[in-house]
Amino acid sequence: MPDDSPIRVAVIGSGPAGFYAAGHLLKDSAGRVEVDMLERLPTPWGLVRSGVAPDHPKIKSVSRVYEKTAEHPRFRFFGNVCFGEDISREDLLAHYHAIVYATGSAIDRPLGIPGEELPGSHAATDFVGWYNGHPDQADLEVDLLSAERALVIGNGNVALDLGRMLVLNSSELATTDTADHALEVLARSRVREVVIVGRRGPAQAAFTNPELRELGELSEADVVVDPSELERGLAVPDPSLKDNAIARQNVEILRRYSERAVAGKPRRIAMRFLLSPVRLIPDEAGRVGAVELVRNELVPDEKGTLRARPTAARETIDAGLVFRAIGYRGLPLPGVPFDERQGVIPNDGGRVTDPSTGVTRPGEYVVGWIKRGPTGVIGTNKRDAQQTVDAILADLAERRNGSGGELSPDSPDAASVERLLIARKPDLVPYDGWLEIDRHERVHGERQGRPRVKLTRIDEMLRIAAAESPDPEE
Ligand code: NAP
Repeated sequence: MPDDSPIRVAVIGSGPAGFYAAGHLLKDSAGRVEVDMLERLPTPWGLVRSGVAPDHPKIKSVSRVYEKTAEHPRFRFFGNVCFGEDISREDLLAHYHAIVYATGSAIDRPLGIPGEELPGSHAATDFVGWYNGHPDQADLEVDLLSAERALVIGNGNVALDLGRMLVLNSSELATTDTADHALEVLARSRVREVVIVGRRGPAQAAFTNPELRELGELSEADVVVDPSELERGLAVPDPSLKDNAIARQNVEILRRYSERAVAGKPRRIAMRFLLSPVRLIPDEAGRVGAVELVRNELVPDEKGTLRARPTAARETIDAGLVFRAIGYRGLPLPGVPFDERQGVIPNDGGRVTDPSTGVTRPGEYVVGWIKRGPTGVIGTNKRDAQQTVDAILADLAERRNGSGGELSPDSPDAASVERLLIARKPDLVPYDGWLEIDRHERVHGERQGRPRVKLTRIDEMLRIAAAESPDPEE
């Protein structure tokens, strides 16, 4: 390969990790790298569009960074193209020098307890997708009319997002990009209390400080922490606290909540600790009616980390809705190695490895949650993507010296893969098509004083994208 010929990279997935990888590749490659991004949906941005809570527009504004990357002349977007269905790994190997998997963690981790599948019990991933207008969850039925109390299991930021969304009032939601179907249901919600349950203590919660603080500033809901339960949760000293300022601050915030007088707002969020659900109990109608929980104590494991150990004490909490927010999991991709236990693609610093031999697979890389698991905030993916891009660029440099690890594709020209993609998926959505969807959503949003009114149906998105965008073959 001559030294100045383009290096063609396919990025699979258009969330933050995929966009940061594309941005780093285009910035650091001395003009040689071209990036094609393939996305299952007609819309880009992954969890920035369908995960970040609608009342956090500042966090969503990170999409401007991705828009800049998308405007780069050596970047192309192919939406509505599903890896493994419309195009295979083998197809990509024939067209690209490197593939970067950036498919995130699409599904929830189950609790594995009886009653989990009862109506009224939901995965956080589904509820979050539903209020954010993800097409996969557009038809989810969330009954907010039958239940007055909802239980959220888990002590991470997703649990806080859910808790907040359940107690915001309709005028607060009306200025957000919450999906219309969810706005309508949330406006009529009868939920008055949300109980957020952690299996360990206040010091082990995975909340970040601004998110936990925000809970205490809600206009419609008191936040309630039982002082004796808080102190019970802190009774066993946690040695990791001395190096964890976030956790120390969380404890302070929770202590302030426990000391605060209840203001008598119409709704409340109760924070409970040292409890694990053991079964969901149906009501007469066969829906979730209550949750049986076991009280835990904290005991150090061999490394000194405090773990939850069940005691004999049990408690039952009436709740007509249960949300499990105990973490996400990646899905395997056809033909790509997968670590079932961790729910990630096995890798060595971003280079995909064969799980049986540990040997790296030339030309295949991974970024984001599907690389390291569902941890960290959006910005974490920037650093993470840089590590992978450094590996790609190092492999390319070695290749030039005759020993590197990228691929030697048969048809590395940009036009041939575009022809293939259009043949396989005539209604693929190029970046201009997404810009039409974006414009349509923003125009409708502006009329209602909202950032956008989201389209939630694929066919509708395709119609808007195709009606206005130039024929990709022209
Ligand atoms: P997370 O931060 O990993 O929290 C998961 C929680 O579930 C932990 O409290 C964990 O407890 C608990 N858990 C796990 N298995 C459990 C079980 N079997 N029974 C009961 N509890 C269980 O996950 P997340 O909330 O899904 O968030 C994912 C990532 O996205 C995080 O990095 C988060 O910070 C980020 N995020 C950020 C924002 C924001 O910045 N605004 C918003 C949403 C999400 P243990 O600690 O005991 O395992």
